[in-house]
Amino acid sequence: MAPEAGTPQGGVRDTIAAVSSGTGAAAVAVIRVSGPQAGTAVTALAGRLPPPRRASLARLTDPSTGEGLDSALVLWFPGPGSATGEDMAEFQVHGGRAVVAAVLAALFALPGLRAAERGEFSRRAFLNGRMSLAEAEGLADLIAAETAQQRRQALAHAFGHLADRVTAWRTTLVRGMALVEAGIDFADEEDVPAEARALARPGLQSLLAELQQALADRRGAMVREGAALAIAGRPNAGKSSLMNALAARDVAIVSDEPGTTRDVLEAALDLDGHKAILIDTAGLREATGMVEAEGIRRARARIEAADLVLWVHDGSIGGAGEVAAEIDPPPGAEVWLVLNKSDLAEVAARLPGAARAFPVSARTGEGLDALTTALAGFVAARAAGAEHPALIRERQRGAVAEAAGHLGQALSGWETLSDELIAEELRLAARALGRVTGAIDVEDLLDVVFREFCIGK
Ligand code: GDP
Repeated sequence: MAPEAGTPQGGVRDTIAAVSSGTGAAAVAVIRVSGPQAGTAVTALAGRLPPPRRASLARLTDPSTGEGLDSALVLWFPGPGSATGEDMAEFQVHGGRAVVAAVLAALFALPGLRAAERGEFSRRAFLNGRMSLAEAEGLADLIAAETAQQRRQALAHAFGHLADRVTAWRTTLVRGMALVEAGIDFADEEDVPAEARALARPGLQSLLAELQQALADRRGAMVREGAALAIAGRPNAGKSSLMNALAARDVAIVSDEPGTTRDVLEAALDLDGHKAILIDTAGLREATGMVEAEGIRRARARIEAADLVLWVHDGSIGGAGEVAAEIDPPPGAEVWLVLNKSDLAEVAARLPGAARAFPVSARTGEGLDALTTALAGFVAARAAGAEHPALIRERQRGAVAEAAGHLGQALSGWETLSDELIAEELRLAARALGRVTGAIDVEDLLDVVFREFCIGK
């Protein structure tokens, strides 16, 4: 989808170059060049400009010294049909540090070439209308994706599915606006205004419902950030031990002293292709010190926002009634009971009926497979359907919430507000939606979006 504001800023651009394949020694490193001097740079290093979009083997030499640098694959992508929309070249060189450094140095010595800044390739692609902001964000997520589901979601965004959805919303708004403005334009002709407005209303009402639904759907954000699984329970129940056992590495400090885990610790899990964040919270008990009180406050906040609470109980003590009475979850959160220390006592007898309960031993690992399988099922069910292009970032959510606000104002004032005021609310709503794809208000958004890109993207 091409954004409306696709004009390059500032006339003639620098030509930029950077390694796009990551840092460190590797078999192959990809150096990308983009800008008006890209073709000149290829000729200077490779001796000729290869046919467009075909890999050609070339000996690279330093044009200032004539020294051989590497034997490399060279690709030439003339603009505007390139990734950035500019003339582009790619050098696939041997990935040793010295090779990469020498090729970059030779490039930067050419007039008009400089090192690319963070996200500058993608930024240029956006400014030249090669992708929308929502697509650029999808691309960033694709590169950061850790699990299969994150990859699928990011790909849908990078392919422009969210941008298409938002553009369709915006089109509905613009149509509504046109109808209301028809009323303004034909204010002299008695029956036009009422009729035009009436025509616009149903479409706008269902749009508002759709925006509200999209805002209420947190699945996409959950997939991107990982489902939050909070581990809670009394001190010494074995929360840190469970965290370590599940994360299969030492992330939490395990100790016999109650209240050791003072802060919130997190570990990322890949549960059958779904990302989850395991959160170990400070022992919830009366605080004895300032630091611990702060830990408890944060723990409470994390538990309240969690998708699932694993309530850990020391299964070697207390009866079923006591266990049930101890569970103290925040309202609304789904809670599973983990009866720990099954190696010390027959804990199954203590399982209360109501909650979903798992007897485990964090020490021996008994029962952990069943718990992990159940967690994977939980996260998969929660995320089901999240491939649907959803709002996954606060930036996108904020813009859509603002649009819904203005649209809501227009609709609630439908009978009382003037055509001008209704049209103005619709215009503000359309503007807010335009920020999701970058169709409007572009400049101030660019830094926010491209800041998270690294160099070479
Ligand atoms: P937390 O305060 O809830 O985080 O509890 P910890 O994980 O620090 O564990 C408290 C104590 O219980 C430590 O001495 C652990 O070694 C012990 N513990 C934890 N899990 C088990 C278990 O499954 N079996 C046994 N026997 N001891 C455990």
